[in-house]
Amino acid sequence: MTNFLTRSNVLFFLTFSLICSPQFIHGQKMEQKTIKGILYSDKTPVEINISDGKISEIVRLEKENKTPDIYIAPGLIDIQINGYMGVDFGNPDLDINDLHKVVKSLWKEGVTTFFPTLVSADHEKLIKCFTALSQAFDDPDISPSIPGFHLEGPYISPVKGFRGAHLEKYIRPPDWEEFIQYQQAARNKILLVTVAPEIDGAIPFIRKCTESGVIISLGHHNGTAEIIRQAADAGARISTHLGNGCANMINRHINPLWPQLADSRITPTLIVDGYHLTREEVQVFYKVKGPDNTILVSDALDLAGLEPGEYIRDGRKVVLTPNVVRFPAENVLAGAASPISTCVGNIMQFTQCNLRQAIDMASANPARMFNLNMGEISTGKRADLILFTIEEEKLIIQKTIVAGKVVYTRDQIKD
Ligand SMILES: [Zn+2]
Repeated sequence: MTNFLTRSNVLFFLTFSLICSPQFIHGQKMEQKTIKGILYSDKTPVEINISDGKISEIVRLEKENKTPDIYIAPGLIDIQINGYMGVDFGNPDLDINDLHKVVKSLWKEGVTTFFPTLVSADHEKLIKCFTALSQAFDDPDISPSIPGFHLEGPYISPVKGFRGAHLEKYIRPPDWEEFIQYQQAARNKILLVTVAPEIDGAIPFIRKCTESGVIISLGHHNGTAEIIRQAADAGARISTHLGNGCANMINRHINPLWPQLADSRITPTLIVDGYHLTREEVQVFYKVKGPDNTILVSDALDLAGLEPGEYIRDGRKVVLTPNVVRFPAENVLAGAASPISTCVGNIMQFTQCNLRQAIDMASANPARMFNLNMGEISTGKRADLILFTIEEEKLIIQKTIVAGKVVYTRDQIKD
C-alpha cells in the first residue's frame, strides 16, 4: 500500500480538514473541532466532530474526489518506553522541561499516550525517578499523555541472557513493602510491572499487584510451563517483549516461549523494529495470538532519535546504530531506537495484517488492557487522534491531536 501525498492534497487538507469554533454550553466555552479524512479501519471518508476533548460524532461522507488522502486513526499508545531524544526517564534529576521535550518529540511520531518505563535500579534511584516523573501529572499540557508508569524489574531473573541489559547488582526478589514505596513516589500510577515468575515470592507478589489493580507482565524470566501457568492463575496478563529478555541458547522443548504462546490469557508485547525479532518470529507470534491479543511497544531508549555512535550508559559502553542499541560486552540488545509508529509499519510488512489491525495493536489493544478511555474512534472516547499518510508502508504523521487539542502539525510544505 503506497500513497503519495501531493502538495495540492496537503493544501486542501490543511485548509479544510480542521475547522475549530468555540461554542457556549451552560455559559462554559466548549472547544469544537471537525476533522475530515479517511477512517483507518475501513478506508471510507468521515467527518469526526470533537467537543470538549472527546469524540462527539462520526459522520460518514459520500465518496468524493476532493476527499483528502489523509488517514485518521486513534493516537498511538506505547506502554514500554525508556526515554527519547536524549531524555532518559531513569535520570533522577529529570525536570519538567525534559518531560516537555520528550512528550513533544513523541507527539511528532503519533504517540499520544505512553508509560515512561523504569528498569532495574537501586531503591533510592527508583524513588527519585518516580518522584521526578510524577511532576508530569501537575502539568496540564503533558499530563494527558502520561497516564502512568511501567516498572520493568528489579524483580526479574538475575541470570545472564534472561536479565538482558539489566544490571545484575540491582536485581532482587519481589518485596511488596518496597513496591508500595514506589507506588507512593509515583502517586499510585505504576500501572504495569514486569516480573520474573520463577523467582522467590513472585507468585504472591503477582497476586497482590493484581488485587491492587496493577497489571503484571512476565518478562526477563526463565519460567517453566508450570510456573507460567501459576503466574497467569495469579493474574499475570502480559508477556513483556516476547522473544527478547531471553537467553540466546535455550532448550528447544523446555523454554519460556512455548508456554507463554500457548496460554491464551497472556497477551505478548512485541518490539517489531526489525532487529529485536526476526520477521518469522513476528509472523508466528502474530499467527498464534492474533491481532486482538498482541500489543506493540517501542522499548525505545533515551538514545532513540540521537546520532549513531558509542555512548556510555550506567558506566557501560553501548552502541547506537541508526535503528537499535546494542550492548556488545554481553552480546545482547540494550534497547530499541525506533518509535512505535515504525513498529506499526513493520508489522504490516511482516504479517500482511491490515492497517486497522496494525494500528489497533498500538492503540485499541493497550487501551483495553489498561481500561483507558482512548484508543478507539467512537463517540465518548477522548479525542486522541493521528492524521497521517502512508509512504512505502511507513506512517508519516501529519497532525497529532490529544484530548481534542492539536499538539503537532507537520511542516510539510517547504519551498
Ligand atoms: Zn526488557
